[in-house]
Amino acid sequence: MRNLLNLTNEQLQAYFQELGEPGYRVKQVLQGAFQKGYERFEQFTNLSKKLREQLAQDFTLRTFKELERISSPLDGTTKFLWQMADGRKIESVIIYEGKRVTFCISSQVGCALGCTFCATGKMGWLRDLNAGEIVEQVLQMSKEARRPPTNIVFMGMGEPMLNYDEVMRAADILSDNEGLNFSRRKITISTSGIIPGIKRMADEERPYRLAISLNAAFQKKREQIMPIAQKYPLPELMEAAQYYYRKTRKRITFEYVLIAGFNDSLQDARELVHITRKVPCKINIIPVNSQDENFPAPSEAKLRKFEAAVQDSVYAVTVRNRKGWDIQAACGMLYASNEKRKAK
Ligand code: SF4
Repeated sequence: MRNLLNLTNEQLQAYFQELGEPGYRVKQVLQGAFQKGYERFEQFTNLSKKLREQLAQDFTLRTFKELERISSPLDGTTKFLWQMADGRKIESVIIYEGKRVTFCISSQVGCALGCTFCATGKMGWLRDLNAGEIVEQVLQMSKEARRPPTNIVFMGMGEPMLNYDEVMRAADILSDNEGLNFSRRKITISTSGIIPGIKRMADEERPYRLAISLNAAFQKKREQIMPIAQKYPLPELMEAAQYYYRKTRKRITFEYVLIAGFNDSLQDARELVHITRKVPCKINIIPVNSQDENFPAPSEAKLRKFEAAVQDSVYAVTVRNRKGWDIQAACGMLYASNEKRKAK
């Protein structure tokens, strides 16, 4: 059975056309599914019984089973582990920061890129998600969140640029005016630096935000923690970032995971400012959240020093709080602990 959440507005139009139904059915169904959060077709009481039955025969509205959920008593950050129809598992997170409610979603099961500090990287790549599975994470969490999301970030499991078509389709579905109508400027695609994806996003003039996960300002260091840096070296990556800005005029966010004793020196900070100087950007410093003792988190003092050094640049700098610090909120951690328990 097909997942209705996997269909774009145009695909739904084609479906209703084939049934000989009027065009406004699309809006009715999208409003029910996305704005009202209906999970079963019998809830669509504005449609005839016959049409509801037809829809229920052709589509499903939910495919996930919630396997685990952990919430931080400190800040409310909540992480979910979902099981999909084929038994594969993915994670998504709700992060509360003042008025902001960020939904962090996955784009793949596992990830092929093997960043050394990341639990998902240790799983390897298992499969890509389809747009419906990406969209369902948002709908499932909307039901659970204390407030509706203000931001959606593709920063969960997987490299979104390696599942480009489905990620963009999902973003299009989430921002469809007749459905959830989520602000396009509040959807961020975060990449570890896949240059063809960055350029494609620019060429296609996608209305979404771009974040690039840098994590080291020196090529050799970057290669140590992000093997993909060998394929897409920093100079080319920064050129791609400039290309993106020239084409879109959209400010990029550079993510920088700060690891004590590895990339947190003043020299690192200065180099970070240096390599990003030609790209209008925001730099987001994130203290590492890993259970691996090889990746210790920096002290608060070190973090502030690094931040101050980067602030010398003309661009904005933010330090992301240690959200979900107590609940293994970094991507892949809940999956890993669930697998470990299963193996016992
Ligand atoms: S950090 Fe992102 S790109 Fe790197 S292994 Fe983890 S999920 Fe993949």
